Parts: sequence; structure tokens; C-alpha cells
Amino acid sequence: MVSRVIPVEPFDLVIFGGTGDLARRKILPGLFRRYCSGQMPRDARVIGAARTDMDETGYREMVAEAIREFGGGRACDDGTLDEFLGQIHYVSIDARGDSGWAELQDLMKGTDRVEAYYFSVAPGLFGDLAERLQSWGMADASARIVVEKPFGRDLRTARDLNATLARYFHETQIYRIDHYLGKETVQNLMAVRFGNMLFEPLWNSQYVDHIQITVAETVGVGGRGDYYDKSGAMRDMVQNHLMQLLCLIAMEPPARFDPDAVRDEKLKVIRALDPVEPHHIVRGQYLAEPGNEAAQPDYRTAVDNPRSRTESFVALKTAISNWRWAGTPFYMRTGKRMVARSSEITVVFKDTPHSIFGEEAGRHRNVLSIRLQPNEGITLGVTIKEPGPGGMRLIDVPLDMTFADALGPEGADQVDAYERLIMDVIRGNQTLFMRGDEVEAAWSWTDPIIEGWEARNDVPKPYDSGSTGPDAADQLMRRDGREWRKVSP
Ligand code: NAP
Repeated sequence: MVSRVIPVEPFDLVIFGGTGDLARRKILPGLFRRYCSGQMPRDARVIGAARTDMDETGYREMVAEAIREFGGGRACDDGTLDEFLGQIHYVSIDARGDSGWAELQDLMKGTDRVEAYYFSVAPGLFGDLAERLQSWGMADASARIVVEKPFGRDLRTARDLNATLARYFHETQIYRIDHYLGKETVQNLMAVRFGNMLFEPLWNSQYVDHIQITVAETVGVGGRGDYYDKSGAMRDMVQNHLMQLLCLIAMEPPARFDPDAVRDEKLKVIRALDPVEPHHIVRGQYLAEPGNEAAQPDYRTAVDNPRSRTESFVALKTAISNWRWAGTPFYMRTGKRMVARSSEITVVFKDTPHSIFGEEAGRHRNVLSIRLQPNEGITLGVTIKEPGPGGMRLIDVPLDMTFADALGPEGADQVDAYERLIMDVIRGNQTLFMRGDEVEAAWSWTDPIIEGWEARNDVPKPYDSGSTGPDAADQLMRRDGREWRKVSP
């Protein structure tokens, strides 16, 4: 099945931080793939902007290298790459100074196309960029800004940042990115829920036993130790990515698939979230990989802070106090250096009210699992009779919709989350971006948890690299007579 490509209108995209890691790994290769697919118009321009003194040729070489290294996906011939590079420009600019702004202003002058400014720089520069875009006359009504995470480190800083951006841009011009929302499966989750009659009637506490969300990474903090140690898993992952997944799984059907209708429903979920009891949350810190301590050190060594109390793992249980979900626990966990890289949402349905097959048939439950990575897809576990003679024995089989299998090679050549989201920015579609009030509500729920840890001087529990986190995370589930899903690659 070949996916339909609808070209977007011509645009100019300025990438502040155009020499950085995110630009090189995701944004630029993603744009190139959209160019190859025909979605990015031939005359669209991409302007890299950073302090490094470099001419256009040097920047184009850097972009070509990044595309070769991180391009992936659909093959494109060298001719197309040269054509694409012809659309790339570079301005040496200082977000905190005056250098480069006149040049950028010149480049952006007199075009009547979509203007987008991607803030792919440290969050401390977001306000400076917004202010300078305005003072140099580039914050006009047609401009859009894309703001990377983290969006604040608590409610106060998120509010301040919202207020700063609101001084120069209207909310409809601000695209707060959470790349989890750009994943194909996440959107498919909405299609499955709201495009089928099958699931929605069962999507409530009467039929759902519990819901699990796991985002497991095998990597450690890597070169981000300094940033990560000031953040931790709660701020870096739960407040944004896991919270967004929770919203999509739990929200009421919006009246329309439009940005504010969807975001209104997500906001209601966050506001209905119960506070987390201290005994319903487990924090962990990873230990070194045995025998490989130099290459894969423990968390504290990796962040160069022997007394660090920052968590690289969180598991928690919460609930949503509304009519649909009262009584259904939601379990979330995320961590680094875990056994496998896997992001999955699992909806575990309740037992049948009565088994006509007797005790020996065992306990069987329908489980809907939505895999975000790797192997994006959706699987529904269904109970059937074990084939063959010998009586009625029941087994669970998966109804599998791994997209790569179901949609063939073309369908499997999926669009990366960043590509999709950038195209949405150009189209002016904010559905998959977080609204300011959503971000603030998420911090309102997260802040007391973090403040509680600080007040109690809570120390994260150590866990083995390559495991599923501290034992206490398993106990959190077992206490309720439940189990985490296996984390498998
Ligand atoms: P990075 O590799 O450190 O790149 C930072 C970029 O900002 C560089 O291009 C740097 O270039 C530029 N820069 C720094 N100071 C500047 C200034 N005063 N004026 C203009 N440009 C300046 O960071 P990154 O990993 O790409 O991350 C960028 C943003 O994306 C951050 O907010 C990060 O939290 C977020 N993010 C990154 C990832 C990721 O995978 N990397 C994932 C999610 C979110 P010069 O030094 O040449 O100025």
C-alpha cells in the first residue's frame, strides 16, 4: 500500500541550532526525506542558523554528511541531494547578540510564503529568540515558532516561558513539540479508538482492568549527563511523553479531529489525574554493566556526581477521577539502561464474568497492546480453542497488525515523527502539538511528586543495567495482583 503524499505549500524554515545534534540527526535528514517524497516543494528554503562561523558551502557539506549518516528511509539519488542542498542556506547568528540578525532579516524579506522558526537550541535561549524575532520584524502574523522540549522544569518556569512567548506570538503560532505525538502508532491509536465501533463501548472501568505504559531505553545518559542530572526521568519523560500517551489513551472522544477539540479533551484528562501517593511511586538509578564498567558506568559516574539523587527510572500508579475511569489503575514506567528498547501501551481487559469452560481452562484476558517502537503496530490478544482433539483447552493468540507486515514495504517506510510534525507546522495544524495550558497542567501534577522527593530526601533505588528496573517496581504491580508486561525488543 503506497501512502499518499500531499505537497505542502512553499515555505521558509529557519532552524536555530542548525549545527546541533537534533538538527543533524532528525530535522535535516527528515526534511530531505520529505523532499524526496515530493511533499516538500522544490522551492522551499531551509536556513540553518547558529553561532559557528561557516559559509554556505561549509554548511551544505555538513548537511550532506548528516543526511548520509542519518538519512535512512527511502533511497534518493545523488542528483536529488544536490538539488536539495541548493535550497539550504546558512546564517551565523547569536541568539543573545545582534550579529547575524540583519542578514537573516534580509533573507526572509519580501516572501509571502509560510515562515517557520525552529528553536532547536537550549531552552535558555527560547525567550531571546522570540524577542529578537520580534524586534527584527520577523514575528508577523504568518510566522510560526517550533519550540523543543524541555518546556520549563516546573510549573513556574513553564508559566514564565509561556508568558514570554505570548508577548511576541499568539498561541496559534506556537508549536510545542513532543515527538511521541508524531509517531504513526500514536495517531493510529486515535484511529483505532474513534474509527471503530468495536473498542469504544469497552473503553472504560467496567471492562478495562488496568492500563500500562512503558517507555524503556537501553541507552544511558550518554553525553547528556549534565542536563539529565538536573532533570531526571520524571521531568525528561513522564511529564511530557508518558503524560501525552496517557491522555490519548484515556481522553473522551473529541467532537472533531481538530487541534483545540483534541487538546481540550487531553487537558481534561490531566486535570482529572489523582495525585500520586508516595508508596505508589518507585525511583531508580542504574548500576554499571558488570564486566564493562568503563564503557557502561553506573549513573552517578556517568553524570559525574557521586551523590546524585536524580532518578534514571520511574514507575508509578495513578488513577483518573472521572466517570469513565474511576477505579481503573494506570501504571507508567520509564527508564534508561533497561533490558530492551521498547515503548508500549497495554490495555488489559477484565476477565469474563464467568468461565463456562471450568477452572482447568485457566484465566484468559484480552490484551490490546499498542507498540510505538520498535516494530510499530497494534496487537489484540484473543482467546481461542487450542486446535486438535482432546477437549476444550484455551489459548491466547495475537491478532497482529504490525504495520510493516500489514502494509507492505511502502507502508512500512514510515515517516519519522519529526518529518510529520514539521510538515504539520507548515500546514498550520496544531493537533499533535501541546497547548500552553496542557503543559502547565502536566507540571501541576508533576511538581508535588518531585517536591515530595526533595522534602523527604528520597534516594533512588539502584537497579542492574539490562534489567527492568528496581524490584520495588515489580512489587508495585504485584501488590495489586498484577504484572508488568515483558519488556521485549
Ligand atoms: P546541541 O547539539 O547542543 O546544539 C545546540 C545548537 O544551538 C547548536 O547548533 C549551537 O550552535 C546552537 N547555539 C548555541 N548557543 C547559541 C546562540 N547563543 N545563538 C545561536 N545558536 C546557538 O543541542 P541539541 O541536542 O541539538 O538540542 C537542541 C534542543 O533540542 C534542546 O532544547 C534539546 O533539549 C532539544 N532536544 C534534543 C534532542 C536530541 O536528540 N538531541 C531530543 C529532544 C529534544 P553554535 O554553538 O554554533 O552556536
